[in-house]
Amino acid sequence: MKKILLFILGFIFIQTSAFCEEIKLQNKDIGLKGPINVTNQDTNIIDINNVKDKYTIIKTKSNYTPIREGASTNAKRFSHVKKGAKIFADEDKNNFYRIDLGLDKYYWIEKKYVDVDSTANKKELQKIEKISFLETPDMYRIKIKTPVLTAYNEIETTKNSLDFILYDVVIDKEKTETKGKTSGDFKISTDKFGNLKISYFSKYPLTGHEVETCEDGLILKVKKPFKIDTKKPIYNLTIVIDPGHGGYDPGACANGLKEKDLNFQISKNLYTKLKKEGARVFLTRQEDKNIDLYDRIDIAKEHQADFLISIHQNSIGDKNRINEKHGVGVYYYNKEAYDLAKAVQNALVEGTKFKDDGVNFSSLALTRSANPICILIECGYIVHDEEAKKLSDDGFQKDFCDYIIKGLENYLVENFK
Ligand SMILES: [Zn+2]
Repeated sequence: MKKILLFILGFIFIQTSAFCEEIKLQNKDIGLKGPINVTNQDTNIIDINNVKDKYTIIKTKSNYTPIREGASTNAKRFSHVKKGAKIFADEDKNNFYRIDLGLDKYYWIEKKYVDVDSTANKKELQKIEKISFLETPDMYRIKIKTPVLTAYNEIETTKNSLDFILYDVVIDKEKTETKGKTSGDFKISTDKFGNLKISYFSKYPLTGHEVETCEDGLILKVKKPFKIDTKKPIYNLTIVIDPGHGGYDPGACANGLKEKDLNFQISKNLYTKLKKEGARVFLTRQEDKNIDLYDRIDIAKEHQADFLISIHQNSIGDKNRINEKHGVGVYYYNKEAYDLAKAVQNALVEGTKFKDDGVNFSSLALTRSANPICILIECGYIVHDEEAKKLSDDGFQKDFCDYIIKGLENYLVENFK
């Protein structure tokens, strides 16, 4: 194993040195735009008081900080980083900082997610001191030791593979050491921009991943495939059910019904049924109160959930369209959640005989987390008379939960037998 690690390291060094040139060139190019403002055109005298550093170093202050492809909250999300990451910003526009990750394009962070830390005239790359591999019964833990936390990305390249990229770092030939091994298929390399890349490939679909920050760097956590008993696939899994809305937020209201109440009734039924199947089950709320969307995710993480299922009832602004737009639908964001969303949707459409409102890719607080695997179910349309009547019936709610469980079981057996 030691020999293999040495070989991998050797490979990294070759890669790193090959890309040093590229990084330097890139910096020189940026340099041409110039950090120095010549304020007096006539005399060409540089007003020293007006010389500003090129970069503002910003520090993330939210564990759910989105990095986006444009300076707008509608722009596509590129990555999410936790609190404490230092990032080089070189411009600002509206409420956004433009950030330079050393890639071939710029990205953006909304100002409300960061504090200004300091300024710098050039980028200082962080040296990676150590990469250690650790394994627990249900997780791989890869610790990357660096003096300062930088931005990163977790890219699901397929539903079976993951690339973790750490930006603004260099691997030091003499000083970076790798330690430990796992039974998982991991590879260390650098991408074409010289960033650290840790690739993971699994025979089974991914079951969740996340970054945890620590005092001297970060830990990439990758969950191992589920080990299931095909006769009792749900047994021993941890499932958090999230009854949408609550308290001052009733959700959609129609037909004398409030969405928050239906969500809670269905969630409680699902809770009871999953418990009977031998799962560890928790609800994000036990009563009629409102909880912040990200707190709901945190509750699921605290319970070390395998799945987070959020229960909602749909609505439509234009009620004239209700005859064409209604039915049951499931929402997902991450690649590993797609198969689950599809299996649950198939079982629900077959069981309820409701119109198929689709397996929908959607960037929602309750779908975006890659750990646990998250889906959001819109059980039906509360503004649709027939669906509302059925969904408020206790017997129908219980059947509805059986279909969700059927979908979950199908997903587990199909993917992890
Ligand atoms: Zn809702």
